[in-house]
Amino acid sequence: MSNDVNRQWLLVRRPEGNIRPEDFRLTEAPIPTPEQGQVLVRNLWLSFDPTQRGWMTRDTYVPMIPLGDVMRAASVGQVIQSKHSSYKPGEFVQGAFGWQDYIATDGTGFIPMRNLPPGVPPNLALSLFGITGPTAYFGVLDVGQLKAGETFVVSGAAGATGSVAGQIAKIKGCRVIGTAGGKTKCDWLKNELGFDGVIDYHSEDVGAQLSALCPDGIDVFFDNVGGVVLNEVLARLRLKARIVLCGAISRYSDATPASGPAHYFNLVVTRSRMEGFIILDYAARFPEAISALAGWLKEGKLKQKEDVAIGLENAPNTIGRLFTGQNFGKQLLKIADPPLERVN
Ligand code: NDP
Repeated sequence: MSNDVNRQWLLVRRPEGNIRPEDFRLTEAPIPTPEQGQVLVRNLWLSFDPTQRGWMTRDTYVPMIPLGDVMRAASVGQVIQSKHSSYKPGEFVQGAFGWQDYIATDGTGFIPMRNLPPGVPPNLALSLFGITGPTAYFGVLDVGQLKAGETFVVSGAAGATGSVAGQIAKIKGCRVIGTAGGKTKCDWLKNELGFDGVIDYHSEDVGAQLSALCPDGIDVFFDNVGGVVLNEVLARLRLKARIVLCGAISRYSDATPASGPAHYFNLVVTRSRMEGFIILDYAARFPEAISALAGWLKEGKLKQKEDVAIGLENAPNTIGRLFTGQNFGKQLLKIADPPLERVN
């Protein structure tokens, strides 16, 4: 493959079970020429998100990706040619540029980097200040209605969203328990992030550990995983508990929907609320979340972890890492260094 072409990964097959590299095909197209009113963007960084598994197979809160289209993904790029009055060469822009090197676009769908702290690096723009930070922020505070002194449990706790959710709960003065896969991740949560308790769901009995670590029950559960952990939490709710349904990654590759959690009726007994949310509904309030997250980051109250793959050619293998727990922190992929000097 040569360097003066636009490499593109196309979605060519809808995955059954786990995502496989054969679900994608690498092609070469000419680098597009921007028309009047368009910019040419050099794609620099890609975000990998569990929801992309859903985009590949069904209509959800966005339409599914048509077969033969470039694989959709949030990304940061640099304007390298501009025939658009609002953008100049050198400017960093954020949008859904997908798994490809270049895109010519009129800017529809750009997420304004201009709302972010000046000079914010692409990796932060796609993680803490992208989707995952605000998801944790609004999930914990808005949907979860967390209060100081409460017992907070988060699943997928060592992941991009879960680790921020747990740290926000610590900042708000709660007792925080996290579930994660493996000793390395659990040690990090306890020793680096200061979680009060951790449960390695690979090797420990989740229900027994929840009983031991939350003897008076659970006030708020931030669920990224679904399945067994959700069911065990439902059995241990306090009165007026809140279950924040952020995601259910343990179920995303299932061919048929699993039956519901056996302990759901405890919602009635404890007068509790279980509520899902989609972060896109909070877009107008992103500046509030970014300002709070940036403040905590600066004060050293919040730690941000990333897992960075290199090279567009590695995109198909990188997405699979989310579903095997290989990623440790926000999964990103760096495609290229910016070709021009940055101007924003
Ligand atoms: P993460 O960084 O948390 O990566 C995914 C993690 O999920 C893996 O590292 C792995 O951690 C865990 N995992 C994978 N398979 C399983 C399984 N079978 N059982 C239990 N855990 C599993 O990704 P994100 O932070 O981007 O996403 C976390 C969740 O938040 C997802 O469910 C996602 O869909 C959801 N989300 C929802 C949004 C919304 O608007 N509602 C917005 C953004 C994200 P481990 O090694 O610990 O198993």
